[in-house]
Amino acid sequence: MSSSFAYPGALHIHTTYSDGTGSFPEVIAAARDAGLSWIIVTDHDSLEGAPFAGWHDGLLVIVGHEITPDRNHFLALNVDTVVSNQLPPQDFIDEVYARGGFGVIAHPDERVKNSFKDIYRWDDWVVDGPRQREGSVVGLELWNLMSDWGEHLTGYNKELIFLLPRLGISSPSPATLAWWDRLNIAGRRTFGVGGVDAHAFKQRVPWGEVVVFPYRWLFGTLTNYLLMDVPLSHDAVTATNQVYAALIGGRSYFVNRLDGDAPAIIFAARRGIHRYGIGDTASLSDGPLLIEADVGADAYIRIIANGDVLTSGVRCIRQSITEAGVYRLEGYWGSKSWLFSNPIYVSE
Ligand SMILES: [Zn+2]
Ligand SMILES: [Zn+2]
Repeated sequence: MSSSFAYPGALHIHTTYSDGTGSFPEVIAAARDAGLSWIIVTDHDSLEGAPFAGWHDGLLVIVGHEITPDRNHFLALNVDTVVSNQLPPQDFIDEVYARGGFGVIAHPDERVKNSFKDIYRWDDWVVDGPRQREGSVVGLELWNLMSDWGEHLTGYNKELIFLLPRLGISSPSPATLAWWDRLNIAGRRTFGVGGVDAHAFKQRVPWGEVVVFPYRWLFGTLTNYLLMDVPLSHDAVTATNQVYAALIGGRSYFVNRLDGDAPAIIFAARRGIHRYGIGDTASLSDGPLLIEADVGADAYIRIIANGDVLTSGVRCIRQSITEAGVYRLEGYWGSKSWLFSNPIYVSE
């Protein structure tokens, strides 16, 4: 299979219905200006924004909610009532799935507390989805822009990285990436996303007040491309289900657009005319497969196989493979992470 359409979007967004400073119309205008096709808004323990769900001049707005106890946050999607944040994490995840929803474990590896933020990590990594994990797919927020930035904030660099925020943005945590690989290797299907965690917080600094960060700026950072064989429907409910299916199917990759866009990457396993894309399962039963990657820019890229670097290159890679496993693509500019694809699954 090959996908013909790639739709850029952002997820993990807060508005004035929780602790964001932007209204829905402001957030929608910023997302359209940033060229996004879809956004998923997840206010804290609130679905008040639900009436805004639907198409807004070429932007599909989806409304979920973030279940937010003191720690252990979870983005609940495709549920139409709020799930209690008083439940233990295992129970609220089960409740989301029992209602026919699914979700994303948010900012799982926070470690730093400072003047800007507390620690909201996912405490128990034994809990990685509903109790009935077989056949269920869970998302993992591999890279949360606000966590990454906030955790790099110190008394010394604070003013500098308020002025030049990209200095405070680096990478997903290695522990998160390793957890993600372990889950998929074990057959516990987990899709990875990049979340902006947009709030546009207003913060006092010595020279006045700054917004950390404006929505328009954030929507030019971590962007998830959803891969589809048919275009998004004009019917909002159908289109929303297409977005959910692409996420659950792991048919996506994300890129930090601050360091360049990547709207049409190639990452596929092929044998002759058969081509398997991101999220697909390819079999080795008819012989070796050729993995092809091309990110369209001279970034350093590498293919990760079962959690280890298989091979690396600049811009393009072609690599024959004979081993079953979980294959995914990463891209870097120097030491800065840039691009992460969901895996291609290769069976015996
Ligand atoms: Zn959170
Ligand atoms: Zn959040």
